[in-house]
Amino acid sequence: MAVESTLPTPFRTPASDKDAKALQFIEEMTKNVDSVQERVLREILSRNAETEYLKRFILNGATDRETFKSRIPVVTYEDIQPEIQRIANGDKSPIFSAHPISEFLTSSGTSAGERKLMPTIHEELDRRQLLYSLLMPVMNLYVPGLDKGKGLYFLFVKAETKTPGGLLARPVLTSYYNSDHFKTRPYDPFNVYTSPNEAILCVDSFQSMYAQMLCGLIMRNEVLRVGAVFASGLLRAIHFLQNNWKQLAHDIATGTLNPKITDAPVRECMRKILKPNPELAQFVTMECYEENWECIIKRIWPRTKYLDVIVTGAMAQYIPTLEYYSGGLPMACTMYASSECYFGLNLNPMCKPSEVTYTIMPNMAYFEFLPHGSSTSCLVDLADVEVGKEYELILTTYAGLCRYRVGDILRVTGFHNAAPQFRFIRRKNVLLSIESDKTDEAELQNAIENASLLLKEFNTSVVEYTSYADTKQIPGHYVIYWELLVKDSANAPTDDVLNRCCLQMEESLNSVYRQSRVADNSIGPLEIRVVENGTFEELMDYAISRGASINQYKVPRCVSFTPIMELLNSRVVSKHFSPDLPHWTPERRR
Ligand code: AMP
Repeated sequence: MAVESTLPTPFRTPASDKDAKALQFIEEMTKNVDSVQERVLREILSRNAETEYLKRFILNGATDRETFKSRIPVVTYEDIQPEIQRIANGDKSPIFSAHPISEFLTSSGTSAGERKLMPTIHEELDRRQLLYSLLMPVMNLYVPGLDKGKGLYFLFVKAETKTPGGLLARPVLTSYYNSDHFKTRPYDPFNVYTSPNEAILCVDSFQSMYAQMLCGLIMRNEVLRVGAVFASGLLRAIHFLQNNWKQLAHDIATGTLNPKITDAPVRECMRKILKPNPELAQFVTMECYEENWECIIKRIWPRTKYLDVIVTGAMAQYIPTLEYYSGGLPMACTMYASSECYFGLNLNPMCKPSEVTYTIMPNMAYFEFLPHGSSTSCLVDLADVEVGKEYELILTTYAGLCRYRVGDILRVTGFHNAAPQFRFIRRKNVLLSIESDKTDEAELQNAIENASLLLKEFNTSVVEYTSYADTKQIPGHYVIYWELLVKDSANAPTDDVLNRCCLQMEESLNSVYRQSRVADNSIGPLEIRVVENGTFEELMDYAISRGASINQYKVPRCVSFTPIMELLNSRVVSKHFSPDLPHWTPERRR
């Protein structure tokens, strides 16, 4: 087909008619950003005109931007939480959306320690599917031949719950993988996975990972790309291989499945895939038994052309480790999305991680941008953002979120046609993150206060603290540096008490953290490192020597700068780890 893409790429010919249509769609959307945005807002406001929320602000059926901007306030989750709670409790009246709320998507962002509940409507699945359908056509422009093999993707579902009113509450990807859009997707030679649906849909994370890794090994010569949603997920898979290769090789050699895999659908589908293959088992053993993991991805899956993982934002910390395991394979960050809305895609997916930009698709929602540090009266439209400036993303969705602050800070780096391209800068107020957990300063402070109650009977207090997300080992873990004031050295807190302080901190952290610890095993035990008295004063001296003002100096509550880490680590007097798992169940505490 004679459609030429304007995408800056060495391979400009679409791989198929289907791809040509998808690329054409991207072109149309990116050329007509402003008119598409105007239409999207009009559609949202007219269909939701009779909702309780819009009526409250007396829009009187207006669907233009000016009226919308002058009447509707910019809000955070906490502002709309009472309405969300009513929906969760079973109120079926049109509060935010004229369309019935089909389920809640549980964000990894938390409010009062629990995942945020994002109401969604059924048709949003189509919008998400649409964005997914654009990814391969773009990738095919850069990497030819992806129809000649398979993708080894480690994809997982998480536990689901029901709200008091009976609506399902689950993460957006769990919702998507359980949808017919995913489960009964038509065959597409460019999008064939090694993982069977049964393995992806198994809620037990060990069994799911085991089956997916086994399939990946069995089909190793067909694998052309290896991925997971986030970099942390792919590293978990490598770690899993490190811990389980003997059993995996045994299963391959004998054609029998590990008895720990008890999920009936997984056993049934693996029965068809797993056949005795002593040669492959020997290969896996040869590659793994020396415990040399450098380049392991390339060695086991030699045809891999790239890794498909998000390494932007909090995931950038994993780039060096992934480079080590993959032997420097390119890392493609293909999309930018959230529970509230899928935003956009990377039109140059084979670029370096530091150069990744996302182009927001104007048909997904109505987007506004709050210049970083400005008041909420200065919002700009998608078509009007300026190159070089940083903005907070504000969203109005078909499901009824109105002028909602997502909390992401983005910088405009350029344009594709009329569509701005954004670099993900950071999530507001996130201090510590290992995978999807997002711990803010207030949560950390609260956890420290709760833990330090255990020190009271020892007449000891925490005088200063800071933290560090240690991702050098898999799984990563939180490290908290404590400087203690021990008033009676004859009665200093024991090792056991300090270990329990670690657990107490974990109990105080949000449910996403605790779920990662308990259900997913993707975060290791929290560690407290007690440092010598005077260490934090030295830290201040160091900051001042580098130009900080004495009057304005504040102890950083999270550190990663190497000289500071070296200083702290050289003053450690004892290390303590959480001796147990914190409590977590899928049910919400509030
Ligand atoms: P959740 O609501 O749990 O799905 O998390 C969505 C959040 O994950 C977004 O608001 C971002 O902060 C982050 N995120 C999603 N995609 C990306 C990406 N491609 N790069 C960096 N951060 C991302």
